[in-house]
Amino acid sequence: MSDFKLDPDKEYTLVLVKPDGYRRGLTGKILARIEQKGYAIVALRIVQATDDDLHEHYVEHRGKHFFESMVDFMQSGKLVAAVIEGTRVVEGVRSLVGATNPTEAAPGTIRGDYGRDYDSGQIQNLVHAADSPSSAAREIKVWFPDAC
Ligand code: AMP
Repeated sequence: MSDFKLDPDKEYTLVLVKPDGYRRGLTGKILARIEQKGYAIVALRIVQATDDDLHEHYVEHRGKHFFESMVDFMQSGKLVAAVIEGTRVVEGVRSLVGATNPTEAAPGTIRGDYGRDYDSGQIQNLVHAADSPSSAAREIKVWFPDAC
């Protein structure tokens, strides 16, 4: 699939451009924000997510009231999975992405600039970024099993 291998001496995070971002043609703009900040895209895939992918990726949300509709939304089209590398990249990319709710996300963040609420019953917030180095490591295994 890819010859990329994680380097144990480097820091990585996992980003997904969600189906709303891909559908709206915002993949390039979203990834450009991350590159402009100075981080490197070191692996990239366009994928139609399976149930197994999403149950593993969102393991901490299993059983929550929004879980099934979130899985449906994440399968509503292709998504783009990326591994991003750089010093303190997990917190840096979370800061670029902004708050979960796109109406409330600060202008200047990806969600604040490109996202809004829709009356769809499911948050459409364009992008996911791992919330800790341990989540990043687990999530990278989900989307890039050959990299580990
Ligand atoms: P997080 O792991 O915090 O990034 O959340 C993952 C995703 O779950 C978010 O991007 C939303 O799509 C969804 N989500 C999180 N919290 C809620 C909530 N309270 N209601 C509905 N969806 C949520």
